Amino acid sequence: MAELLTAEGICSGYGQVQVLWGAGLRVAAGERVVLLGANGAGKTTLLKVLVGLMPAWEGSVRLDGADITGQRTDRRVRAGLAYMSELGVFPGLTIAENLRIGGQFVPRAALSRRIEELFDLFPDLAAKRRALAGSLSGGQRKMLGIAKALAARPRLLVMDEPSAGLSPLFVQQVIAVLGRFRAEGAGLAMLIAEQNVAFLDLAERVYTLEGGRVRFSGTVAELHADDALHRAYFGLA
Ligand code: ATP
Repeated sequence: MAELLTAEGICSGYGQVQVLWGAGLRVAAGERVVLLGANGAGKTTLLKVLVGLMPAWEGSVRLDGADITGQRTDRRVRAGLAYMSELGVFPGLTIAENLRIGGQFVPRAALSRRIEELFDLFPDLAAKRRALAGSLSGGQRKMLGIAKALAARPRLLVMDEPSAGLSPLFVQQVIAVLGRFRAEGAGLAMLIAEQNVAFLDLAERVYTLEGGRVRFSGTVAELHADDALHRAYFGLA
């Protein structure tokens, strides 16, 4: 599979505090990858380095084989990366406004068509397009976050804990929506940082991050086959 995003030897942190210690991962075109890790493992920090919201102290990030380590976030977005943070949406703006911000680099006419496509995909949002995002339920807000990220027609959707703050029922709905994109074979690659192992159902490959270092990289089946990792992430069952 063609290389899409590759990070190698990433070190980064906050002020004097180093959080990432040589972390690396790769996502091929159209591939779904989960970055699994407990609270504080450094998942958010690594994603922010990948999308350019935090600098890499050491290491490199490549997109389509080209070095983008120091590139600004907006350029990465134009090149096909979309980032959904844990918050995901602007609560003080309407649903339609949020989608326009997500697609801010898409030409106007194409964006209007794209937003109508997204409303077809997310009918609950279409019914409330003029409502404030802040008035939505947690699950709907997460759907809007996904739709907002998709407004730019990315090739790689980078998501930070899509399950955060959601009840198990809504988590399943989010997984089902993301699974539709996978089933459609739309070629959309995904990198999903999670501590909820339910998201592994969506993925071909998984990385585990512990203390800012990648401990395991392999297929989901290989993760299950590793006793220690299985116990760590799935409990004793
Ligand atoms: P979570 O699920 O809690 O978001 P995470 O795996 O995404 O966890 P990070 O948010 O990347 O982890 O945090 C990694 C470490 O960096 C933690 O020890 C955290 O306390 C620390 N950290 C995060 N943000 C900051 C910050 N702004 N300033 C200082 N330390 C920070």
